[in-house]
Amino acid sequence: MSEITHPTIKDGWFREISDMWPGQAMTLKVKNVLHHEKSKYQDVLIFESTDYGTVLVLDNVIQCTERDEFAYQEMITHLAMNSHPDPKKVLVIGGGDGGVLREVIKHDCVEEAVLCDIDEAVIRLSKKYLPGMSISYQHPKVKVHVGDGFKFLDDYKNEFDVIITDSSDPEGPAESLFQKPYFELLFGALKEGGVITTQAENQWLHLPLITKLKKDCKEVFPTVEYAYTTIPTYPSGQIGFMVCSKDANRDVSKPLRKWTPEEEDKLCRYYNAKIHEASFVLPTFARVALQ
Ligand code: SAM
Repeated sequence: MSEITHPTIKDGWFREISDMWPGQAMTLKVKNVLHHEKSKYQDVLIFESTDYGTVLVLDNVIQCTERDEFAYQEMITHLAMNSHPDPKKVLVIGGGDGGVLREVIKHDCVEEAVLCDIDEAVIRLSKKYLPGMSISYQHPKVKVHVGDGFKFLDDYKNEFDVIITDSSDPEGPAESLFQKPYFELLFGALKEGGVITTQAENQWLHLPLITKLKKDCKEVFPTVEYAYTTIPTYPSGQIGFMVCSKDANRDVSKPLRKWTPEEEDKLCRYYNAKIHEASFVLPTFARVALQ
């Protein structure tokens, strides 16, 4: 057992307490704290849990666990990738653990996958402690840029087929990635017919935020839909995505491209063509709020 202490860990349990989910907190039993540092942008904690494998925590918020990360990484990636007829050039903003990149390069049509994360510490530590996700950094189609995603996008016009924003929550360095000017930059950086997905929070906890996000996206993109995945270690066990296209006639809730059922079983553990469609079907309270 390491000697590293952290304010979120008490009596051998990590507690995820935040104003973003008042009155509730996910707790995970800690086996061993592997690393703690304050990077230039955030507090970075990595620990081994008893039942969820290695866990990455930024500013006291769980970013991914080895046990359930695929439910998020596969959905945020393939909802966008399979809503595009032929994605060749793909950009990931955030996503420093490498998990989304791992999913992007499962599509043989991809010629180049670029990642831009603000924090070199997340990339460096994921390479050391999260090999199942960061394995993607070794792929020849992958290019990495360390910098602010907002500033990075400003340099590109009509460049990418798909852009995936795998960001942390809007409190901290990712704040600008949840605002309308960011969606305008995304729109400009996409080629005709391009598609984006962004991390879009939880319908049980953040409906006002999601409603605003959808409204902002609608003012920029002609096609905007909200989908979600289930995942035990994100607040309330779900997280959503805004899926937008530059093509007004694109129905992003129906995959344009599909793997065969055999390929799906081989390539993915959560995503399949049926769950692609199902993930856009919302419970009434959320559907009505987001209409
Ligand atoms: N899936 C996770 C979640 O929903 O909690 C997010 C995981 S991913 C590790 C989030 C990444 O976004 C972090 O590595 C963080 O450094 C990066 N990030 C935050 N703000 C950013 C910005 N402005 N530009 C680029 N990357 C950013």
